[in-house]
Amino acid sequence: MELITVIVPCYNEEAVLPLFYEEMTRVAAGMKNSAFEFLFVNDGSKDKTLSILKELAAKDDRVRYVSFSRNFGKEAAMYAGFEHSKGDYVVIMDADLQDPPSLLPEMLRCIKEEGYDSVATRRVSRKGEPPIRSFFARMFYKIINKISQADIVDGARDYRLMTRQMVDSILEMKEYNRFSKGIFGWIGFNTKWLAYENVERAAGETKWSFWKLFRYSLEGIVAFSTVPLTIASLFGILFCLIAFGLIVFIIIRTLIFGDPTSGWPSLACIIFAVGGVQLFCMGIMGQYLSKTYLETKKRPIYIVKETEECTKETKE
Ligand code: UDP
Ligand code: MG
Repeated sequence: MELITVIVPCYNEEAVLPLFYEEMTRVAAGMKNSAFEFLFVNDGSKDKTLSILKELAAKDDRVRYVSFSRNFGKEAAMYAGFEHSKGDYVVIMDADLQDPPSLLPEMLRCIKEEGYDSVATRRVSRKGEPPIRSFFARMFYKIINKISQADIVDGARDYRLMTRQMVDSILEMKEYNRFSKGIFGWIGFNTKWLAYENVERAAGETKWSFWKLFRYSLEGIVAFSTVPLTIASLFGILFCLIAFGLIVFIIIRTLIFGDPTSGWPSLACIIFAVGGVQLFCMGIMGQYLSKTYLETKKRPIYIVKETEECTKETKE
């Protein structure tokens, strides 16, 4: 019988965890040919998430959990889940039921019968999301697909069922600045996309503010493309050309009309413009430099404070 690991990153999810567990066990009960392991990753929650997880682990042997020493972010939580997973198949699922567990049987069927390595999901609508957020999200996908070789699908969710082989490949990518949507695309393999209508969160609140998402999107671009660096050099070339044109223009004008001392306002504008572009390009380089700096430190991606094995030991 194959084992399926369900990885669930949780950050302050006390409101939805019981609902999630109920729905997940219902779906699991329907999949008679598969054994399950529910691996919850507590990402430094400040509410009762951990105690709920302990209760679940005590009454259900399939429940495992890994609890971080602080909030490390969903990317770190997913990586920890992959590292601790034991299943032949691994699925990542949000705790808020926005990734419907009921799709799981169909996803598993696609891998086993149609021979895909992974089945991912994509929401076709962004119903229930602020329009400004949808607008920026669409722009982000347009830009990143133009400038990066990793294939990143618009509306792709992290909800994805994978074979063990694919999980091992993801674990090979040990980078500190993680952007899973890019990593999934980068490693390749055959992925089937299932589309579904956006579902709203079952309870609790979203953990992503607009700015958090914005920073995350910049991270994705820096992690999976070096085109911004090329843009910086293009700006340099462009400004050299403009300067050269201006020099020729000024020499010719001086030869024809003499040299009246005027034009400091235009000079001030030029200094500002060039200074601005230089700072902008240095900013781009700084982004890459700061990421490189963090990578070279080789810090751990997450730190575990306790796992379900601790609870088991104290019981024995
Ligand atoms: N999450 C996490 N760490 C964080 C933020 C979020 O583990 O720092 C988890 C969260 O518990 C949920 C999933 O990531 O299971 C998606 O978060 P959320 O539903 O808030 O995002 P949205 O669906 O609004 O994009
Ligand atoms: Mg959500």
